[in-house]
Amino acid sequence: AITDNLEVDVLVVGSGAGSQAAALRAHDNGLKVLVIEKSDRYGGTSAVSGGGIWIPDNHQIPELGGSDSFDEALQYVKTVTRGMVPEARIRAYLQHAPRMLRYLEENTRVRFKAQPQYSDYYPEEAGAKPGYRSMDPSPFDARTLGDEFARMREPSPGTLMMGRMAMTMAEARVLLCRGPGWIGLTLKILSRYYLDIPGRLKSRRDRNLTLGNALVGALRRSLMDRNLPLWLETAAQELLFEEGRVAGVRATRHGETVEIRARKGVILGAGGFERNQQMRERYLPRPSRAKWTAAPPCNTGDGIRAALELGAATALMDHAWWAPTVRVEGEEKQRALFVERNLPGCILVNSAGQRFVNEAAPYADIVYAMYEANRTDAQSVPAYLIFDADYRHKYPCGPLLPGYAQPDRAVPASVRKSFKCADTLEALAQMLGIDPAGLCATVGRFNEHAREGRDPDFHKGESLFDRYYGDPTVTPNPCLAPLEKGPFYGMVVDAGDIGTKGGLVTDTRARVLNEAGEPIPGLYAIGNSAASMMGPTYPGAGSTIGPAMTFGVLAADDLAVDA
Ligand code: FAD
Repeated sequence: AITDNLEVDVLVVGSGAGSQAAALRAHDNGLKVLVIEKSDRYGGTSAVSGGGIWIPDNHQIPELGGSDSFDEALQYVKTVTRGMVPEARIRAYLQHAPRMLRYLEENTRVRFKAQPQYSDYYPEEAGAKPGYRSMDPSPFDARTLGDEFARMREPSPGTLMMGRMAMTMAEARVLLCRGPGWIGLTLKILSRYYLDIPGRLKSRRDRNLTLGNALVGALRRSLMDRNLPLWLETAAQELLFEEGRVAGVRATRHGETVEIRARKGVILGAGGFERNQQMRERYLPRPSRAKWTAAPPCNTGDGIRAALELGAATALMDHAWWAPTVRVEGEEKQRALFVERNLPGCILVNSAGQRFVNEAAPYADIVYAMYEANRTDAQSVPAYLIFDADYRHKYPCGPLLPGYAQPDRAVPASVRKSFKCADTLEALAQMLGIDPAGLCATVGRFNEHAREGRDPDFHKGESLFDRYYGDPTVTPNPCLAPLEKGPFYGMVVDAGDIGTKGGLVTDTRARVLNEAGEPIPGLYAIGNSAASMMGPTYPGAGSTIGPAMTFGVLAADDLAVDA
């Protein structure tokens, strides 16, 4: 039954960071806006993410003593996207991303900090920078959200200290290898958490928000400042198309059908199709499983499918924001391995026990390599991360905390199934179903070179990017150490993702185009509902949320042109 008839100027579908930025800007442009969200939690994958944005030539760079320019960024993005993205979209992003950032910082509660040492992912390419372009959200106080805090999607457990306490990216990096000041920092994080007594009485959730929760919290509070409504449990089902334009959506709200009309247009920010097994099988390389994703459960390609019915064009549907992931029993999404591959004392192998990639390569490239190397006689989907007792003792890995803080006997039962452990490499290989002779030969060769800090086969640790998450106390190569000391450990690594990146073809103003290349009036797409302007690549940390928010703001500006 149609229970409600509503009319706004702009309807935003989805409540990720891009959608909320679009909603804020549309409101500030004088438009009446409504945000609808399918789940009973707002924030989507953006909330569980690192919340980082990649903004070349941002205004903080000169203030921090760095340098950057539009032209260098253009050269870099053009090179790494390999001609797969129209230059006009790259230019639109590079021109408007710094403006989007300023708009948010000057008009909302959102704050970011440029990271001087966070290198672009391909620092050797022309126009790349060794730092400053990736920006992390500043911590945000959840108390300002009142009851709305409980309705925000929870952070990923892997981003929390001891599964509970929030950390910034910079703090996590200090703790990763017990860098200078790590004990004081640990005490600071612990006391910040436990001294929030009113918070502890309410729930175990940390009210000092960091990463994606900080970004989504600041955006949500900014919506609240404007009385801008966000409806949970309201799922767009189809687009209303009347008199040659998109006029709103038909949605289910708490189980009932409602029509929400949008005078100016609809912005689809409903994420990708990572949780839709059928779409994965149809579009992505095989094998592919929805359960391998590190993204939360609601992104089932609804926005893309609704626009396809109106003749929208799609692109990059066979690509994802790939990331190797590990399953943990009882968790709704898998854990992405972002940093552990860079650390010394581990290798990634196929079922023949052979290495096939530089383990420290950007996460997207690991999964591209897994698919490329996958053969029936030497399967690399899944692959296996192998490490020794030294590595296990010193570093966290997937759901495992470092052994000095969590020896094997203290590992929770749910995590026990995520790894295998044996006294010898042969025995470990047998447990994992890897060829034992192959693994021993690989480790023998790897160790020989690793002792000298070299990797003639895959060059691990040679790139500045590889070394960002290396262990600076290990010399001469912070990413290399031999695997010598038993017991040995292995984890099954799936060809996972942090969201898909293929979707609706959009122009420089985020308007959805049809197969003839013409805009479908009243329809916009951003974030993972749109084909990424980064093409097949991942230029630097923040390459998905940066564009989602920038094209969100551009869509809101386009919608306001004749407001
Ligand atoms: P989402 O943020 O997922 O938002 C989509 C929303 O739409 C969801 O809330 C969903 O429930 C809702 N929805 C779906 N269907 C409907 C419907 N029919 N009606 C209404 N609502 C609907 N990227 C970065 O750039 N920087 C990072 O630091 C970073 N770190 C990451 C860390 C992790 C662990 C993960 C998993 C991802 C990370 N990513 C990062 C990737 C990034 O989070 C996602 O690519 C990005 O957030 C996607 O944004 P989105 O708006 O497209 O989708």
